[in-house]
Amino acid sequence: MKPEVVIVGAGPVGCSLALGLAHHGVRSLVIERSREIAQESRALVIWPRTAELLRDWGAWEPLLAAGRFTTLFTPHDAASNTALLSVDFCEIADSVESPGALFIPQYDTVRILRERVAANPLCELRFDEEAVALEQDESEVRLGVRGTNGTTTLAAPFVVGADGAHGFVRHALGFTLQGATYSTRVAIADVGIESGGRSFPSPRVALDAPGLLLGIEYAPGLWRTIASVAPSVGDDDALATDAHAKRIAHLFGEEARSSTVLWSSLFRIHRRHAPNFISGRVALAGDAAHLNSPAGGQGMNAGIHDTANLAWRLACALKSSQCAEALLVGYDIERREMQNDSIERTTDLATRLAVYAPPSLKRFAFAWMRRSLRARGMRRKACRTLGMLDGRYTRSPDVDTTHPLAGRRIGDVALDNGRRINAERRGRAALLCCGEVRLDGIETLALAKPPKRWLLKHPSAIVIRPDGFVAAVIEKPTRARVEAMWKRAFCCASPLPGTEGE
Ligand SMILES: Cc1cc2nc3c(=O)[nH]c(=O)nc-3n(C[C@H](O)[C@H](O)[C@H](O)COP(=O)(O)OP(=O)(O)OC[C@H]3O[C@@H](n4cnc5c(N)ncnc54)[C@H](O)[C@@H]3O)c2cc1C
Repeated sequence: MKPEVVIVGAGPVGCSLALGLAHHGVRSLVIERSREIAQESRALVIWPRTAELLRDWGAWEPLLAAGRFTTLFTPHDAASNTALLSVDFCEIADSVESPGALFIPQYDTVRILRERVAANPLCELRFDEEAVALEQDESEVRLGVRGTNGTTTLAAPFVVGADGAHGFVRHALGFTLQGATYSTRVAIADVGIESGGRSFPSPRVALDAPGLLLGIEYAPGLWRTIASVAPSVGDDDALATDAHAKRIAHLFGEEARSSTVLWSSLFRIHRRHAPNFISGRVALAGDAAHLNSPAGGQGMNAGIHDTANLAWRLACALKSSQCAEALLVGYDIERREMQNDSIERTTDLATRLAVYAPPSLKRFAFAWMRRSLRARGMRRKACRTLGMLDGRYTRSPDVDTTHPLAGRRIGDVALDNGRRINAERRGRAALLCCGEVRLDGIETLALAKPPKRWLLKHPSAIVIRPDGFVAAVIEKPTRARVEAMWKRAFCCASPLPGTEGE
């Protein structure tokens, strides 16, 4: 099988991209230098936006079976065991298929995604192969790969670096991460807690601790503890047995009968991204492109969102080589905007509050948020922000941003036929007609009464991309205007639904 895209790295992002590409009929080869999966818990949560993408690619059900799904996100004060606030994702059940968070350690996510990739006839997954050289011209990329039998060269129309924070591909492109590193060090540990049958609410925050001290249960009886470390404490002391014991006592009190530290490490946290996410025929995705603080649990999720944007673009670029450059530039602009303006901003705010604010300010912030959540609009907003359903592409060359809905993810509402938009289009582009619209010869989805929050004043046609984002809203549409907007969204690489044979 000659691959159309070579993906470097079989982490969560590389595997998701392979599945996303296969969904669009694209053959990919994933090379991975290590068969072993790191046994640290790492990214613990899959948010609703990521769930809808993984469902489109056939990976959601096995993940759901392996993890713990909850519709409620309720951080508790560790000292009093009382809820600090509660976000109920059922509040947005009318616009997402999985209103909740899936708690699952990253090693299970990666294992399941690798199994799905290995089982997909359009994907090939090779272990013990490491990318060591890269060059490209106008028609292909050549990747030097070191394997057990020496170094060989792979050629493909496109290469994607999903090879993590210290990835080879970004270095080969000459890109250095820009941004900042927070001054604090963070001690992270995976801890087994024996509680004698008592269950502790999760997540739990020690509000009275100086700096950050947080515990999240990622599997029954297994907790991630996260603690900021004061500048006066040495690296060894921060990870010493008694330092962990103090944190565990602070988070769980006397009720934790015994605990076992399974793994721990000291980290610096970053707010950094590559200056570009593409160079010619090479793209970067996931940690290879951007690093942010784990506050809010968005890092891995954001990487998987990159792949949803990239997969359909690469599929179109392979069909129409004259559009390839424009399609990849769109990826670069959109995902950098989402990373810098939305994800970094959210995680930065959460980090500053969690790490640097004094306990009194944290108490005030939780009280303020609790009060705000009395309003339905704020509850929906909290669900959307936490669930990574917000954010808008405003600078994209292929999005017509004249209407406020354009550049945003379309809410997964029920259509006139009773089925929901995402179930009906299952990761494909679609034209959604709202109100009395006639577009002969074009296959459309129909919604007589769109939600008021979409701000549609007239009968409209909405161009929905495969990644679920709105490329354009055409009020009082004609076939010519729809064709023009469709072309703007997909270059000339994708015909309007129902017109394939024309
Ligand atoms: C201790 C820790 C805790 C974290 N906690 C959280 C959290 O709570 N929430 C959250 O969202 N995120 C968290 N993260 C971040 C999260 O783990 C990453 O965002 C996520 O792993 C990114 O996935 P990726 O596929 O881009 O990169 P990676 O998971 O790093 O995968 C890259 C893959 O590429 C392979 N590779 C690298 N170089 C080459 C090469 N030259 N050739 C072939 N293969 C190569 C690697 O072996 C690896 O398998 C944490 C990370 C760490 C380290």
